[in-house]
Amino acid sequence: MENTLIQQESDDINYHLHPYTNARKHQEQGPLVIVKGDGVYVEDIHGKKYLEAMAGLWSVALGFSEKRLVEAAMRQFEILPFYHQFTHKTHDVAAQFAKRLIDIAPVPMSKVFFTNSGSEANDTVIKLVWYRSNALGLPDKKKIISRLKGYHGVTVASASLTGLPGNHRGFDLPIDRILHTACPHYWRDAQEGESEEQFSTRMAQELENLIQKEGPETIAAFIAEPVMGAGGVIVPPATYWEKIQAVLEKHDILFIADEVICGFGRTGKMFASETFGLKPDVLVLSKQISSSYQPLSAILLNEKMFNPIADESNKLGVLGHGFTAGGHPVAVAVGIENLTIIQERNLVAHAATVGAHMLKRLHELGNHPLVGEVRGIGLIAGVELVIDKSRKTALEVPGQLGTMVIKELQDLGVISRNIGDTLAFCPPLIITVEQVDEMVNKFKQALDIVHEKVT
Ligand code: PLP
Repeated sequence: MENTLIQQESDDINYHLHPYTNARKHQEQGPLVIVKGDGVYVEDIHGKKYLEAMAGLWSVALGFSEKRLVEAAMRQFEILPFYHQFTHKTHDVAAQFAKRLIDIAPVPMSKVFFTNSGSEANDTVIKLVWYRSNALGLPDKKKIISRLKGYHGVTVASASLTGLPGNHRGFDLPIDRILHTACPHYWRDAQEGESEEQFSTRMAQELENLIQKEGPETIAAFIAEPVMGAGGVIVPPATYWEKIQAVLEKHDILFIADEVICGFGRTGKMFASETFGLKPDVLVLSKQISSSYQPLSAILLNEKMFNPIADESNKLGVLGHGFTAGGHPVAVAVGIENLTIIQERNLVAHAATVGAHMLKRLHELGNHPLVGEVRGIGLIAGVELVIDKSRKTALEVPGQLGTMVIKELQDLGVISRNIGDTLAFCPPLIITVEQVDEMVNKFKQALDIVHEKVT
């Protein structure tokens, strides 16, 4: 194999440990080396072009060649390539972007705290929630409820929030004070004859039961993605959010909306909190915030969060938290330009329109023998594959069917991602109707090829 590899491929095998990769398998099969980007397409080292149906990692809103983002970064590099925000300092772009984010927030928010990644942001939120409880003289109010299949990152605390076994196994996680309630996947988990509304009532009751079991006075916050992403693109059933939020309000539990994937237009509104009528106390943003051209995340806090934190920092003398590169000026400059472009080009409305087309085209595949469920909203979708439609089961090894389809699809020139047997589609917001058609047509071809193989 070594002889046929080009240098970068063998260097990668020899020297690079990859995230979210089977390290032994990587030594055998080697990497896919991407070297170039152009709009919604990327190109590998052999010159093969792929439509990037995942926008990288659900993140490249403006595609892979937006010159204005590059220019914004270059300008900032020349003016002020680094400064920080510790000890009362700031830089002009951080202050400016904080105001822009507060201005567009879906509910009244008070302050922005900048971090570098979704995981760091969620880790920070946990600390701020605990800090707030201490400030309020409620040292026992520290538990945080997340959901099974929720994804909130990979640092020790964020991975604990994440409700996926693959992020806990082998890592001695989750840590204590993190609890998980049910995942609201209606198609898979509804009982015989149960309507979406009844299912949502049951989900809210499960949350209520967990709170009662633990003691309502010990629960500080609930964190959730408005639409679950990495858990399999699970769209909440009718009335789910209304009923969950009523439980949180009843027990004075903070609501943290993790919009790391959903934010900046993904669901057809600027924020999914608008799409679903959410009233979060904390909003977590990343990925599309800078189209991932630079690492950046932002935590928006309302007054209920900010005031006790401010008082506590005054009492202790300092808010003892912050990252060297948090709100890096180059990342923030890219974020500002990225938001300007999204607004100027009406990309949120575009995502709603093109997303509706994508969902229509995917729903047309509903009769395909391998398609169990098509779900999505805006420009994010999941297609769950099955072999037996009535029993909703796939192959004996979970994920095998999804892996087979993803491989065929990649050979056909589309990069998607399988989450078990669910294929995810989350293309850049700039995708056109024609490109959506190209993506879905190739997906259908891949399904047909795999269907031939498994029957
Ligand atoms: N939250 C959500 C909803 C995510 O989808 C992700 C990443 O996919 C994260 C948090 C973690 O972000 P990061 O990978 O930047 O740490």
